[in-house]
Order: sequence, then C-alpha cells, then structure tokens
Amino acid sequence: TDFKSDKQPTWCPGCGDFGTMNGMMKALANTGNDPDNTFVVAGIGCSGKIGTYMHSYALHGVHGRALPVGIGTKLANPELEVMVAGGDGDGYSIGAGHFIHAVRRNVDMTYVVMDNRIYGLTKGQASPTSREDFETSTSPDGPKQPPVNPLALALAAGGTFIAQSFSSDSQRHTEIVKKAIEHDGFGFVNVYSPCVTFNDVDTYDYFRDTIVDLGETDHDPTDYDDAKGKILDADKEYQGVIYQNDQSVPFEEREGLTGSMADIPDGAPDEAMDLVREFY
Ligand code: SF4
Repeated sequence: TDFKSDKQPTWCPGCGDFGTMNGMMKALANTGNDPDNTFVVAGIGCSGKIGTYMHSYALHGVHGRALPVGIGTKLANPELEVMVAGGDGDGYSIGAGHFIHAVRRNVDMTYVVMDNRIYGLTKGQASPTSREDFETSTSPDGPKQPPVNPLALALAAGGTFIAQSFSSDSQRHTEIVKKAIEHDGFGFVNVYSPCVTFNDVDTYDYFRDTIVDLGETDHDPTDYDDAKGKILDADKEYQGVIYQNDQSVPFEEREGLTGSMADIPDGAPDEAMDLVREFY
C-alpha cells in the first residue's frame, strides 16, 4: 500500500510484527486515509521500529510514552489520523499508567499493541503478559506471577472499544483494526503477534489451535456483561471486537471542552514561546 516505506524491516524472518503492520497499513488505506494525514507514534521495543517501516508522519519516542504523544497530537490537530503502536513490554509495564489514562480519556485514535508475551528486542526476558511458568533468562522458574490481562485493564478503565486479533489471520486482523479506526473514541486492539525467536510457547501453532473467533459466533460486542465474561475467561484466546460502547463520545467532542479549547486567545502560543525564550 501507499503506507509502506522503502526501508527493509530488520525484524526476524517470521516475526508476527510483519503481519500486524501489514494489517494496520491496509486498515488505514481501507478507511480512506493516506500518509499525508496519518501520524504513527511508537515507543521502544521491536514494535517501536514500525514508524520507520511505514510511510506516514511518525515519531519513535521513548519507552512506554507513545500514548501521551499521540493524545497531544490528536488534540492539537484533530484532522490527523493518529495511530499509536507498541508492544506488551512497552505498553503494559512502563507504559501501563499511560495506557489506563488514555483508555479512560477516550480520545478518537487507535492503539495497536503487538503482544508477543516476551521482551524481544532485549533478548527474551519475561514481559507483563508472559505466562506464570514461562522459563526465561531472567525467570528460570517462570515469573511466578499472573500475567496482566490488558483487555480487563481496558474494560476496568472505562474502555469504549476493546478488541483482539491475530497477526497471521490477515483478513480478520485488518477488519478488526479498521473497526478500531472507525470507532468514535479510543480504539484498542491487542494483537497476538508471535516472537519466533524468544517465545516457544505462544507460537503461531498455539494461537491457531486455540483462538475462538467471535466473528463466527453470535457475540454482541455491545453486551457489556457478556464481554466482561469473555475478557475474564483465562482459558480462552478470543479474536474479534469483544466490547464496543455504541454511545461513545470522544473526549475532544465533549460538551464544554471544545469551547474551552477554541477559546485559547489568538497569539497565545507566541506569548508562551516568548516566555520560554526569555527564561533561557
Ligand atoms: Fe520479532 Fe521476536 Fe525477532 Fe523481535 S526478537 S523481531 S519480536 S521475532
């Protein structure tokens, strides 16, 4: 698509991030976006390289801090399509606080997390979503603590769009990210995106054998209690839109707020810059 840059990814051959990124690019194109109106923000980790491989405006920021940058950008320029990408280490450890507050703020943007349940870039340490008994270099007997359930965190924080997909199921993954982009508010997609180099447990075969696709059931994502039951069901790996609040109003469209943002006096940014210059 137009969203592919001319840089060759340095991800390991077979990494799930290829499929995750391809679906993101297709979903952006399928929703009428183009590189000129799209801003991709990423943090640190294998996932963090995505802004280089995609052809759009992009920022490769610091660990766990991509969401506030994305939120600030969207509020400053609502015409931009803002997509934040991250990994499970980046988003659910050092970035966990930002994640919760971004979810509850509900700015109209999309957050895609490449969840491979391991730290890949730093060579295989347990991540927040690693299984309790997953043996790694830093946890030879397993982390001995239950993994973070990102979908439950999002639901508890008042999330209005909570979905999950699998990087290798290209068509469904693209459809799900497209729905997240189209959602009026914060569209969150946790993507099973296998790390073929350091995680020999959460593999393509494992996900292929266990995923239940909600698109093939009569699941109604607007049914909160049903969504909650599925999200808390630790024995299943679901793919699809698990919860969507069809009454969602994005933060930037809330009554009173638009007025106050619009009331910033002309020249205020210049005055602020004058103060900054004076200070330095
Ligand atoms: Fe992908 Fe894992 Fe390689 Fe990183 S280390 S590029 S996550 S396969």
